[in-house]
Amino acid sequence: MSAPTAGRWDVIVVGAGFAGSLVARDLGARGWRVLVLEAGAGTPDDPGRERADALESFRTALAKVPNSPYPVSTAAPSPDILDLTGRPDGGFEADGYFVQRGPLPYASGYLRANGGTGLAWTGLAPRMHPEDFRAGDFGHGRNWPIGYQDLEPFYRAAERELGVAADADEQREAVGLPFPAGYRFPTRAIPRSHLDTVIAGALDGRQARDPAEQAPTTLRVVTTPHARNGRPHPERGPDDGPRPAAEGEVCRGHASCVPICPSGAKYTPLRTQARWSPSVSLVTRAVVSRLRIDGSGRVTGVEYLRHPADGGATGAAPCTAEADLVVLAAHAIENAKILLLSGAAAGSGQVGRNLMDHPVLLTWGLMPGQVGPYRGPGSTSGLEGFRFGPARARRAPFRIEIGNWGWTWALGPPDARVAELLRTGGPDGRGLFGPQLRRAAGDRIGREFAFQFELEQDADPANRITLDRAVRDPLGIPRPVLHYDLSDWVKRGIAAAKAVSDQLFALLGAEDRTSFAPGPGWPGRFEHEGRAYAYRAAGHGAGTHIMGDSPRTSVVDQWQRCWDHPNLYAVGCGSMPSVATSNPSLTMAALALRSAGRIHRDLLARHRPVPLRGPAELEGADRP
Ligand SMILES: Cc1cc2nc3c(=O)[nH]c(=O)nc-3n(C[C@H](O)[C@H](O)[C@H](O)COP(=O)(O)OP(=O)(O)OC[C@H]3O[C@@H](n4cnc5c(N)ncnc54)[C@H](O)[C@@H]3O)c2cc1C
Ligand code: SF4
Repeated sequence: MSAPTAGRWDVIVVGAGFAGSLVARDLGARGWRVLVLEAGAGTPDDPGRERADALESFRTALAKVPNSPYPVSTAAPSPDILDLTGRPDGGFEADGYFVQRGPLPYASGYLRANGGTGLAWTGLAPRMHPEDFRAGDFGHGRNWPIGYQDLEPFYRAAERELGVAADADEQREAVGLPFPAGYRFPTRAIPRSHLDTVIAGALDGRQARDPAEQAPTTLRVVTTPHARNGRPHPERGPDDGPRPAAEGEVCRGHASCVPICPSGAKYTPLRTQARWSPSVSLVTRAVVSRLRIDGSGRVTGVEYLRHPADGGATGAAPCTAEADLVVLAAHAIENAKILLLSGAAAGSGQVGRNLMDHPVLLTWGLMPGQVGPYRGPGSTSGLEGFRFGPARARRAPFRIEIGNWGWTWALGPPDARVAELLRTGGPDGRGLFGPQLRRAAGDRIGREFAFQFELEQDADPANRITLDRAVRDPLGIPRPVLHYDLSDWVKRGIAAAKAVSDQLFALLGAEDRTSFAPGPGWPGRFEHEGRAYAYRAAGHGAGTHIMGDSPRTSVVDQWQRCWDHPNLYAVGCGSMPSVATSNPSLTMAALALRSAGRIHRDLLARHRPVPLRGPAELEGADRP
C-alpha cells in the first residue's frame, strides 16, 4: 500500500489513526485520490503480521501498559502513562514526550503507530446523550453548533463501520437515547460479566444520594455498547455491517483488550484500512511538520520528514506533498501542534486551548463473595443515572463503569497481591506459603472489584497546548507543552462521585480499600474541601481545535473545517466542544463520517473524482 508521494493529490490525510482511517476510507470509496501520511511505523501491507508482531512485543514487554505492544519510534515519540510519577509530597514529575507545566498532570497517553491509539483502546462505544450537546446551557463548557439529530445517521454509519455490539431497546429505555424505529446494532450486546450480575442483583432499584441533587437517584445496571464483535443476530439485517467472522472472532473474554485483542474481536482502525479502495495510498514513517498555505489562505500541501525504517531520527528526509484539500487527523494534541507550527487557523486565538479529557476516579474493594474478576472486556456494564439532569449545573456529571479487571487499574495486576501475601499475609504478619497461600490468594483475588467514575471536564481556555522551541523531539520538532488543571466544578463532581461510591459500597456490603496516599502511583492527587482525591485519565484528549458557530470563538465550523482556511479540515476529538461523560470515539467517528460527506461536496465543487473499480463503497449516511 506504500506509494510515492509525487504528483498532486485530491486529499492528504495526516494520520492513519481512528479518524484518518475512516475519512480516507469514505473518500477513497467515492473515488478520490487520497494520500495518507502516517508518522509511526507499521507493516500496512500485512495486518495479520502486524498483530502477530504486536502480540510478541506485548509478551516480552516488562511493563504491560497500553503502548507496550506497538512499534516504538524514536523519530515520532508517543506520550506514555509511565512518563508520570507521583511524588511523596503529593506533587508529580513528568519525564517523557510531553512537557508538563500545569498545576496538575495531563495523565493520558496516545500512540503514534499505523492505526494510532485505536490499536490500544478499550473499545467502549456509547453514544452521547442529546442533553450532552448543550453543556453550555448548564453554565459549564460550551454548546455544540449541531445537535444529536444532526449526528444520528452518522452514529448509525459509525456503529456499522466499528461493528458495535449493543441492545437498542435497553439504550433507549435506560439511557434515553433516541433511535429510529426498528434500529438494531450490528451484533447483539456483549453479555454481562458475573460481577455485573452480582452488582445488578444488589443495586437495581435501590437509591443513592448525590450531594448536589435534591432527590435520590434510582440505580440500574445497564450494559455498555462495545466496538467488539458480539454474537451475530440469527438473521442479518441492513444495519449489521461486515460479518464478524470475516473481521476476527466473536469476543471470547481474553481480557487483554487494552492493549491488544489476540483474537481480533476488538475493532481497530486496521480493519477500516483493510477496506480502503485502491485510490488510497499510505506512507508510514512520515511526520508532518508544517502546512503550506498560500497568500489567499488556501492550503496547498504539507511538509513532512520521512524517517528511516529502524525507527531512528538520523537520516530523516525532508519531503513535500501537494493536494487540493488537507485533513488533519493526527490526534487532538498533534493536530493542534501542527496548526501552531504552521501559524494556521489562528483567527480565534483558540488553537491548542480548551484541552479536555475524562478524569477518572477509581474506587476499589472486596465484595463479600467471589465475583470472578479478570475476565472479559474491561467493563461490560455501568450505572448511567448520574450523567444527566439539573445537578450538572452544580458539579461535573459522571458515568460509572463497573470494572471487570479487579484492582489492575488502581494498583496493578494481581501478582502484586500474591507477592504481598507471600511477604506478610499470615495472621502473625509473616508470609504465607503452600495451601495457605493458595487459599488466601483465591479468596482475596476472586473478590476484587472496582468502580471507574468518568467525569465530564469543561472546556477551559487556560488548559492548553503551546510550543516552546527550546524543547524539541529527535527530529527537531517542538514538543507539546501542556498546561492542565481541574476546575472546581470537576473537583465537586469527583467529591460527589466518591460520596456515591461510599453508598454503593455500603449497599453491596463490600469492604472499601480505596486509598490515595501520596506516592509514585498517584501523580494526579489533589485536595478538595479538606479531603484527598486522585484521578487517573481515560486517554480521551479533546477540545484543542474546538468547534463552534463563530470564527471569533472557535477553530472549526460544524463540518470540522477551519474557519480561516476553506480547504483545511481538522478532525478528531479535538473538535468536540464538550466531552460529556461517554467515551468519545464513537462520536468522533460519526463526526468524521459527517465531515467526509462535506469534503466530498467541497471536492466536487472543484472537479469530478476518478472512476473507481475496487472494493464496495462505504455505506455512509450522506450519499449525494
Ligand atoms: C488506553 C486507552 C483506552 C481508550 N479506550 C477508549 C474507549 O474504550 N472508548 C473510546 O471511545 N475511546 C477510547 N480511547 C480514546 C481513543 O483511543 C481516541 O479517542 C482515538 O484513538 C482518537 O483518534 P484520533 O484519530 O484522533 O487519534 P489517534 O487514534 O491517536 O490517531 C492519530 C494518528 O496520527 C498519527 N500522527 C500523529 N502525529 C502525526 C504527524 N505529525 N504526522 C503524521 N501522522 C501523525 C499517529 O501516529 C496516529 O496514527 C482510549 C485511549 C487510550 C489511550
Ligand atoms: S475480552 Fe478478549 S476477545 Fe474480547 S475484545 Fe477483549 S481481548 Fe478480545
